[in-house]
Amino acid sequence: MQYISTRGNDTAGFSSVVLSGLARDGGLFLPQTIPDVTAQLDSWQKLSYQELAYEIMRLYVDLSEKALRGLIRNAYASFTVPEITPVKCLDDIYVLELFHGPTLAFKDVALQFLGGLFENLLAGGDKQLNIIAATSGDTGSAAIHGVKGRKHIRILVLYPHGRVSPSQELQMITVADSNVFTLAVEGDFDDCQKIVKTLLADLAFKDQYSLGAVNSINWARILAQIVYYFYAGLSVMQKTGSAGVRFSVPTGNFGDIFAGYIAQRMGLPIQRLVLATNENDILARFFQTGVYQRGPAQATISPSMDIQVASNFERYLYYRFNANPQCLTEAMGKFASTGQISVPLGTDGVDPLFNAASVNTEATLKTIREYYTRHDYLLDPHTATGVCAARQFLCSTEPMICLATAHPAKFGSAIEQALGENVACHPALDSLTDLPVRRQISPATVESIRNFIVKMTVVPT
Ligand SMILES: *Cc1c(COP(=O)(O)O)cnc(C)c1O
Repeated sequence: MQYISTRGNDTAGFSSVVLSGLARDGGLFLPQTIPDVTAQLDSWQKLSYQELAYEIMRLYVDLSEKALRGLIRNAYASFTVPEITPVKCLDDIYVLELFHGPTLAFKDVALQFLGGLFENLLAGGDKQLNIIAATSGDTGSAAIHGVKGRKHIRILVLYPHGRVSPSQELQMITVADSNVFTLAVEGDFDDCQKIVKTLLADLAFKDQYSLGAVNSINWARILAQIVYYFYAGLSVMQKTGSAGVRFSVPTGNFGDIFAGYIAQRMGLPIQRLVLATNENDILARFFQTGVYQRGPAQATISPSMDIQVASNFERYLYYRFNANPQCLTEAMGKFASTGQISVPLGTDGVDPLFNAASVNTEATLKTIREYYTRHDYLLDPHTATGVCAARQFLCSTEPMICLATAHPAKFGSAIEQALGENVACHPALDSLTDLPVRRQISPATVESIRNFIVKMTVVPT
């Protein structure tokens, strides 16, 4: 498969798309064509998660069957349930549990795969890849656990100081492998992301230090996430006999929901994608009004969604501008300089595939309480925004599948706020509290991070 940049001035094959992350013209990579799999859907219903992953991923990668099957097998061996992403029915909604990987968030689904993929692509060469990542909490730990101890890879994770949950921070700073570096940056997530983007856009520096990205702009992450839309969608359609499904997705960087969008374009009968945000509602406002306008970032109880500028949204906009890179480039330039762009509305609004809702803290806590009381089921605060939004867009003929993006134990203080006590726990987190930590704080400047990278890549002699 050949890949093109959203900005129109770069093309690349699968392996350089994965290793470079961002395109050289500043755009994001997309597959040149999106394969139509409608004819395969019936036969795919019988497949295991790993078999289905193989059938989907092989359409997009340049790897031998043996290599790809091996990568998939290894990636999902670290998950604690045989279905990998099981679906639970709670009355009128289905919950797709994506948190059974090593760091208890959905990001493991992609990053356990990506870690092995990097290693595969680098094996045999003498190239050392230096991954830099910005995280609002879950990406960092999932990325670290995907690449820790791997020979050809170092990783530096930037996270906003004081704005990730204590469990999230522990999952990052207790990892002792010498190829893992973390910095608590004195700023918010958008500051961290801007620094990473600036460094990756500095092509001379990027080449000199072989910088790579694992943020959700990396196409391989989107690819791995497409799989569970098919897995859950096909399984729920089979169970209910319905001809289509809806998905509700708690959204920050627009990565997860974009994977759903691609699954839909591949032919999975997704009739509706419900986009849920917390108070950081730039994306919800866009799908309600057609205006994409930056607001101030606000700290909430769902920190992995405390994002204003969604890095993957450019991929959606590319299609929204009829795959015209000139229009897209103009729009992104306008957004960079004025903080606002808008798209023309059709007769059925911004996009009939999407519904959107912003769910505030009070409604999120209420949803956690309700599901705990009624169903004895504990939702993490991110998942709860998605469930709350989903309830506004239920329909009798199409089942609603809500993506459960994290295990509640990662966000104990939100659970305590909702229920009066923290009833969430997980053995994988309990074991972290006794481990030694490595915490280092940095100013939120490109220069200080650049200097850190220069120092961290010095090979000890
Ligand atoms: C990252 C994350 C999200 C947001 O996903 P995006 O792909 O950035 O939209 C939602 N919930 C949890 C728990 C996350 O870790």
